[in-house]
Amino acid sequence: MAAQKHDDSIEKIAAEVKGCPLCKLARTRKNAVPGEGQLAARIMFVGEAPGRSEDEKGRPFVGAAGRILDDLLQKAGIERSQMFITNVVKCRPPGNRVPEDDESAACRPYLDRQIALIKPKVICILGRTAYASLLGGSSITTNRGKIVEKAGQKYFLTFHPAAAIYNKSLLAALEADLKKLAKEINNEEGKGSMEDYM
Ligand code: URA
Ligand code: SF4
Repeated sequence: MAAQKHDDSIEKIAAEVKGCPLCKLARTRKNAVPGEGQLAARIMFVGEAPGRSEDEKGRPFVGAAGRILDDLLQKAGIERSQMFITNVVKCRPPGNRVPEDDESAACRPYLDRQIALIKPKVICILGRTAYASLLGGSSITTNRGKIVEKAGQKYFLTFHPAAAIYNKSLLAALEADLKKLAKEINNEEGKGSMEDYM
C-alpha cells in the first residue's frame, strides 16, 4: 500500500484520473470514474470497472448493478455517509470485458492512494476481479461472507452485484453478506468484534 503523501487528497486523485493517459482504456473511455463517497468512510467498496452507464456519467455503480447494490445497501442499513465506492480500474473496458493485468497494474496507484487517505475499517471486495487484484484470490464462492486481514487491512469478500442480476440465489447470498458486514461495522466501535470472524 502506498504511503500517504500529506498533500494528497480525494479531489486531487479524481482530477488526475479524469485526465489519466496511463493505459489503453484511456483511448476508449468517455468519462473516467474515480469513485465517490466520504473521506471518513468506514467501508470502502471496490468493484471491477465502470460499465456503460458509469462511463456515460463518470460516476460509479449508477447502472443495473448499481441499482441492485443500492437496494441491498438500503436493506442492510448501510448509509452512503459510511462508505466510499470505487473500482479496480477507473475506465470502462470496451464491451465490459474483464480488465487486463496491465490495465489493473497501471491503475493500481490511484486505488492505493484512495485507500491510504480514507483508511477504511474494512474494504468490501465485490467479485472476482477485485478479489484477484487486491488479495490474489480466485474463488469468491468459497470465501464470500468472510473477513480476511492482510498487512493490517481488513477485507470482506462477497459477490459482484452484477452476478446477481440473473441469479436469485446469489442475490440472497449478497443480501446476507451485506447484512453481516453492516452488523460488524455497526457493532465494531471500540469493541473489536470483527476479530470474532477472523
Ligand atoms: N460494475 C462495476 O464493477 N463497477 C461499476 O462501477 C459498475 C458496474
Ligand atoms: Fe488511467 Fe486507470 Fe483509466 Fe487506465 S483505467 S487510463 S490507468 S485511470
